[in-house]
Amino acid sequence: MRQADVVIVGGGMVGLSLACGLAQAGFAVSVLEAGPTPMPDERIDYRVSALSRASETLLQQLGAWPLLPRKTAYRTMRVWELDGPAALSLDCATLMEPDLGHIVENHLLRLALWQRASQLGVDLQSDVHLLPMIRRVTVAELSCTTGEVWRSPLLVAADGAESWLRQQARVPLFRRDYGHWALVANVRTALPHDACARQCFTPEGPLAFLPLHESDLCSIVWSLPPARAQALCEADEADFLRALYVAFDGQLGLCQLASPRRTLPLQARLARDFVQERLVLVGDAAHTIHPLAGQGVNLGLLDVASLLRTLSACKAAGQDWGCRQWLRPFERERKWQASQYLAAMAGIQQLFALQQAPARQLRGLGMALLNHLPGWQAPLLRQALGLA
Ligand SMILES: Cc1cc2nc3c(=O)[nH]c(=O)nc-3n(C[C@H](O)[C@H](O)[C@H](O)COP(=O)(O)OP(=O)(O)OC[C@H]3O[C@@H](n4cnc5c(N)ncnc54)[C@H](O)[C@@H]3O)c2cc1C
Repeated sequence: MRQADVVIVGGGMVGLSLACGLAQAGFAVSVLEAGPTPMPDERIDYRVSALSRASETLLQQLGAWPLLPRKTAYRTMRVWELDGPAALSLDCATLMEPDLGHIVENHLLRLALWQRASQLGVDLQSDVHLLPMIRRVTVAELSCTTGEVWRSPLLVAADGAESWLRQQARVPLFRRDYGHWALVANVRTALPHDACARQCFTPEGPLAFLPLHESDLCSIVWSLPPARAQALCEADEADFLRALYVAFDGQLGLCQLASPRRTLPLQARLARDFVQERLVLVGDAAHTIHPLAGQGVNLGLLDVASLLRTLSACKAAGQDWGCRQWLRPFERERKWQASQYLAAMAGIQQLFALQQAPARQLRGLGMALLNHLPGWQAPLLRQALGLA
């Protein structure tokens, strides 16, 4: 029987960040991960995340940021509508900031966090297959198929969008299909990306080109109706690259594929409860949103920062941190923000799906106002950077 102050199910970017923060705060932490231990890999990951300044600050505090061998700062952002009047440009100089954020390969961030958690003495378990959880009055227990048992006052579900632990606890879930799949890949571009994150709203869905560490290397995230995403994923390379060129209006010239193409279904999810007795949900286990604003893991890392504050305060006050009553402030704060983001993503997606002339003019006018009215850009940028 292993005893821990907190047991985290799921060693993804969010679960591992929480593990590092809790270990720094003096908690004894176990992480139970279903997959293998992350290992160094020469290949460039085709799953990347745009991280806000708030995420960078947290990862600095956790000591994981310096362990990242590659990260790409982006200094400008351009958003526009294909064949429409709407266009928006944002520049870090407006805020006198060095950049608007960083693009990080998911695999590298996970590896850095795993290494950091190991340095901090976290009990890291990989290839774990868990059996149904048991909750008693003051502790919860998890056992795995090899017979090992973990006992703790608090379990954390950080096991992703289809969270096993959330299902175990029978937490009701709001779920809505976006009617989109994301097609992701890395591409070499003919023109340099100039450290600019670009997103084009096409009639089929948004297409983002995110700059990577080489001047002609970008990660693309293309949201499309499922059948179209599937067809483009399976299309021969030349046909795919032609379609990409047309959809992106040739902004970075002709592209070459630099990775396999993959598709991922996109759904909005919001758990009804973020906390129960002896249980907390964080990251994708609690909420998922459309990647068009690149905020999913940023929200998860804000969950981590909030939970670290709550649990540290409980520990300092000698309270039972697995008790729902003490976890409620975390739930109130995080559920409110996740709901706001879900509503905002649905609104943006629906606004850009309308193709009638009045909707196009309205979008153009809105973005022109944001571009030219003094005093509007700074608050928007502060929000995007995670400083607001
Ligand atoms: C196409 C796309 C682009 C995106 N771009 C961005 C972006 O630019 N910026 C951004 O902020 N966000 C982005 N996101 C969102 C981001 O990828 C997710 O929010 C993030 O990966 C969630 O991290 P997590 O640790 O909560 O979950 P996950 O990354 O899903 O990790 C969950 C972990 O739990 C493990 N696990 C699962 N089941 C079990 C089990 N039963 N027992 C033990 N372990 C288990 C898994 O193996 C995994 O390691 C994007 C998402 C998509 C789909």
